[in-house]
Order: sequence, then C-alpha cells, then structure tokens
Amino acid sequence: MRKGFEVAVVGGGPAGLTAAISLAASGVETALISKAPPADNRTTALLSGSVAALEALEVWPLCRDHAARLTAIRLIDDTARLLRAPEVRFEAAEIGLEAFGHNIENRHLIAALDVRAAELPHLRRIGAAAAAIEPDDAGVTIRLDDGATLRALLVVGADGRKSLCRAAADIETEQRSYPQAALTLNLGHARAHNGISTEFHTESGPFTLVPLPGLRSSLVCVVDPAEAKHLHALDAPALSAEIERRSHSILGKIAVEDGRGLFPLGVETAQSFARNRIALVGEAAHVIPPIGAQGLNLGLRDAATIGELVVEARRDGSDVGSSALLARYDRMRRADVTSRAFAVDALNRSLLSDFLPVQGARGFGLYLLDRVAPLRRAVMREGVEPAAQPRLMRGEAL
Ligand SMILES: Cc1cc2nc3c(=O)[nH]c(=O)nc-3n(C[C@H](O)[C@H](O)[C@H](O)COP(=O)(O)OP(=O)(O)OC[C@H]3O[C@@H](n4cnc5c(N)ncnc54)[C@H](O)[C@@H]3O)c2cc1C
Repeated sequence: MRKGFEVAVVGGGPAGLTAAISLAASGVETALISKAPPADNRTTALLSGSVAALEALEVWPLCRDHAARLTAIRLIDDTARLLRAPEVRFEAAEIGLEAFGHNIENRHLIAALDVRAAELPHLRRIGAAAAAIEPDDAGVTIRLDDGATLRALLVVGADGRKSLCRAAADIETEQRSYPQAALTLNLGHARAHNGISTEFHTESGPFTLVPLPGLRSSLVCVVDPAEAKHLHALDAPALSAEIERRSHSILGKIAVEDGRGLFPLGVETAQSFARNRIALVGEAAHVIPPIGAQGLNLGLRDAATIGELVVEARRDGSDVGSSALLARYDRMRRADVTSRAFAVDALNRSLLSDFLPVQGARGFGLYLLDRVAPLRRAVMREGVEPAAQPRLMRGEAL
C-alpha cells in the first residue's frame, strides 16, 4: 500500500529525530523512517543555541537532568615543541552566559527525542529502513525494506555518513581523511571537574575531557590510528592509568567505564545540501572531526532550518519540496557549515604540522586570544551562537 505524507525523514539519529519533531510539532504530516539506531556511547556538547531549540521543541525537560553545564573551556598546549602556545581559558560568564552549553550522553538525548516524537499526532514512526528513494517532478517514492512504499513531497535525508538519500539526490561529496582516529569513552574521576572542559593539544591531536553530571566526564582522544587501536585494546586498569597520565592527573584517579568507540577522522561535505526534492541534514550533509564540539550542533541547525522553511512554505500554500525552497536551504546552511569545517580543519592541521611558522602562527593566535579580551569574547560568541541562527535556536516556535 502507498501512504502519502508531506515530509518523510529518513534516519532516526539525533538530527533526523529533531527534524521530524520540529515539523510534526508544527502540524506537518511527517513520516520518520528508522530502525533502532546502534548503541552510541558518545556524548555531545550541545551549545546554547541547540539547548534553546530543544527547549522550544519540549525535549530539553526530558533529558536536562542527564546533562552537565559547561561553564569554562581550557586549551592547554601539551606538545613538546619549540614554539608552544600559552594556556587559554574561556569563561561563559565573560560573554554573559551561565554556560556555553551542556554535555550529555547521546543515549539520553536520543531517548528524550524518542519520547517527545511519540507524543506528536502528526508524526508517524515507521520501523523499517529505506531501500530505495526515487524522486520525480511531483514528489518522492520511498521503498522500504519490508516491502511497503510511501510517497512524500519532500524527503529529509538524515541517514548519516553513507547516505542513501544523498545518492538518490545525485549529490557528490568532497572528502579528505586525516591520519588520525578518535577513541571515545566515559570515565569516573576522583576530583571535581567544576564544569570545566579541558582540551590538551598534543602532536597527534586533541585530548579532550568534557564534564558529565557528578564525578564523571567524557573523553575524546585523537591520536594516530595504530595508537588508537592499541589504547582501545588495553584492559580497564591499564587504560585508566594511561588516561590519568595523559591528563596530568587534573581530575585525580581515573576509572574508565564500559563501552569504547573508535572513529576514523576526516572531513566530508556534500557539494549541495538539497536537490531533487531531497534535503540533507546532519552527517548526511557534512562530517567534521570531533574538535570544538561542532558536528551535531551543525546538524541541529540544519534540522531547525529545514523545519522553518517547510512550515513557512506550507503557511504560504506553496510546495514544500520546490526547487526554490531547496535552493534557499542550501544557501542558508552553506556558510555556517563551510566556515566551521574550515576552522576545525585549520586547528587540526596546525597541531599536526611540524612546520615551525605554522606552529608559531597557532601559538600567536592563541596568545592573542589569551591577551585581547574583545577578540576572545568575539570568538566565544561566534563559537556558541553564530551570527545567523534559525528561529528554534533563538528559542522561538516555528
Ligand atoms: C568521536 C566523536 C565525538 C563527537 N562529539 C561531538 C560533540 O561533542 N558535539 C557535537 O555537536 N558533535 C559531536 N560529534 C558529531 C556527532 O556525533 C554527529 O554529528 C551526530 O552523531 C550525527 O547525527 P546524525 O543524526 O546526522 O547521524 P547518525 O547518528 O549517524 O544517524 C543516522 C541514522 O540513520 C539511520 N539510517 C541510515 N541509513 C538508513 C536507511 N536507509 N533507512 C533508515 N535509516 C537509515 C542509521 O541507522 C542512523 O540511526 C562527534 C562525533 C564523533 C565521531
């Protein structure tokens, strides 16, 4: 049987769930096509705009008790190089915020999104995978792996890095891989983190501890792939001791928790974010290295933007999958995504580079941030709240 929807969202990760909720909460007839996502031990540092959006979508009250406030960020040069940067400390209070954002385990965020999605009468969840997506002039046909078929005016492709939706829209990507991998895990520690996230910059990449509620933190340790594999294979006492050593015992004794992730690092950006009645959100549109907590925050801004454009088009009585709407979506997301991918790439490369002038430039940049308060405040504001934010990120309903 063929069922018709205004929008079909493919993929039930955090970006897809947020897009589906933003649409259905505004009365758009939405299908969310997703199988239960694989277990994810990662955490996400949600910046303040993302938290505002989750508030507006009535998701935040369902998960905020699992999130830790990030009141300060420290960058520490932990290289043994000739030109080392000074320690830089960013305080949220310096730009009038209580916190830069909140760190939360993805499983708690997804559970809260699932609960909210189940409350919405205009959202239909379909527990299947999309097997084929076929756009035409009037809409999109989605064939599911259980044999069913759906129609929608617009498909929101939230199906992650290996996006079927992106291929169906005939969109290529530009990609570059780094000689690095990220080991992720959560850990308990003896000393309080006091809401401070600490990023040690090493020759192989950043080693970042981000607060979780209580005496817990999450770790993203970026190293070369062989070392990441070696660390991943250590038993819990050996890995705990190694992390305590690498963190210079700033959090005291460390005890790693069960569940470790290993992610190859790279950057991948779709050449267009929307075409042929398909709009891409989250990692289907862009993958960036886990440096500076930008990835999912960008994905949530994608979700909020497509929600805003569809609700606006619907109010005007126009086609929610029109090429004009898709071109506008692409324009609205491009600068945000490319500027952040560029900044993360530049910072990462400056860490890996053995070229003295590059190290000097990085050190000088951080020196300026440490010494020049207006510059530091401008960088903090842009990092947390980009100039052009979608309505949901400003806490407004669609
Ligand atoms: C180590 C690491 C740390 C990170 N830390 C942060 C951070 O602190 N802050 C931050 O903002 N970002 C962070 N990120 C980035 C963030 O994790 C990702 O941006 C985010 O998980 C992507 O969400 P998504 O919903 O786009 O994709 P995914 O979570 O990959 O979801 C895609 C979903 O689509 C489903 N799917 C795929 N194909 C189909 C199909 N054919 N039919 C139906 N469903 C399908 C999949 O099963 C999956 O559930 C980090 C990333 C890494 C690797």
